[in-house]
Amino acid sequence: MHSIPYGRQHITEQDIAAVVEALHADYLTQGPRIAEFEAKFATYVGTQYAIAVSNGTAALHLCTLALEVAPGHKVITTPITFAASANCVRYCGGEVVFADIDPDTYLLDIDSVRQLLQTSPKGTYQGIIPVDFAGRAVDLETFRQLADEYGLWLIEDACHAPGGYFEDGQGVRQYCGNGRFADLAIFSFHPVKHIACGEGGMITTNDEQLYHKLLRLRTHGISREVGSFQNSPAFAAAAPHAEIYPGWYMEMQNLGFNYRLTDFQAALGTSQLTRADEGLVKRRRIATKYAEAFSGKPFIKGQSGIVEGHAYHLYVIEVENRIGLYDFLREHGIFAQVHYIPCHLMPYYRQFGWKEGDFPYAELYYQKCLSLPMYPTLSEQEQEFVIQIILDYYDRINSRNIHIPIL
Ligand SMILES: *Cc1c(COP(=O)(O)O)cnc(C)c1O
Repeated sequence: MHSIPYGRQHITEQDIAAVVEALHADYLTQGPRIAEFEAKFATYVGTQYAIAVSNGTAALHLCTLALEVAPGHKVITTPITFAASANCVRYCGGEVVFADIDPDTYLLDIDSVRQLLQTSPKGTYQGIIPVDFAGRAVDLETFRQLADEYGLWLIEDACHAPGGYFEDGQGVRQYCGNGRFADLAIFSFHPVKHIACGEGGMITTNDEQLYHKLLRLRTHGISREVGSFQNSPAFAAAAPHAEIYPGWYMEMQNLGFNYRLTDFQAALGTSQLTRADEGLVKRRRIATKYAEAFSGKPFIKGQSGIVEGHAYHLYVIEVENRIGLYDFLREHGIFAQVHYIPCHLMPYYRQFGWKEGDFPYAELYYQKCLSLPMYPTLSEQEQEFVIQIILDYYDRINSRNIHIPIL
């Protein structure tokens, strides 16, 4: 049998045709396919504005720039996430403050966040970056209430959750990245994520001002909008009596970056987006099969069973003897993965004083977590093989009378 990764992209002939068509077009970058992808993605997640960028990390960086994170600012996030969720604060010189996770959902624990806020003078913190970890939507309605109480902004890291949702207090589905509660949300189009562009990312928002600011920051901080110009038309035209700006004129008004996506990547993203819902259905089917196979097995704990609105970027289990299972799976060509090594214990973050014992639930989770193969093209037969190998592993251990404590 060929090897089975924990996640992988699904590229169809239709996707390839879309990219080829884009390569034949007039614009390889800064062309019409960017706006098309943005508009379709905004509709998909139910938001007003979308800004396509070169990757998810660039999306996070532009968000912290647009929200004017600066030295002395403190921003709260979860230690169980990809490092970029925290790093974006550091790019702007801000301070990352971690808070523990909820041991059942694996998401940033709102009570831990509330405690941080309650035990510091008002104005200590500027923002919160909750993460829809593994594809499970954060209850942003509650986070918004808390953020409003303390005057904080919210960036939703929705990299794992396009198409995911939670139900708000009125029972209304709130899709990840819809901008209803968070000021800004971000997505990644890395091949292991739901929608693959190779590299790529998106920012979504309902805030028109932030939208225009983000557009500028994506392209060097350059504005081409006449209404925004700060220099005079006379200067711009280099003609003392000129009253209108010449066609070539533009202004660099902020220190921005080149974080653009190319048109052929956008074409791939747009094509992938047409199959996003189909992919979600398959992911949910795979999750259900795992949950059924492991139900009643005391040595495996999941992310609280099957949850409505979960986008299942990852299927995470917690097990005893994780290293043994990981190696046994590898021997059988199954490449499970660990998401994530707690951010606060990365050498880079330890230098700020974070240490073992700071976040007991996140650290306990790290001792046991394992992400199983989860992607739309994982066949039923392959998944059954994965399940079989896992159950075999624990049968072997049990028959050798190795004690596996009940979680
Ligand atoms: C993938 C990911 C990112 C970064 O996205 P890139 O496109 O790889 O830069 C950020 N946050 C989370 C939670 C991710 O999974």
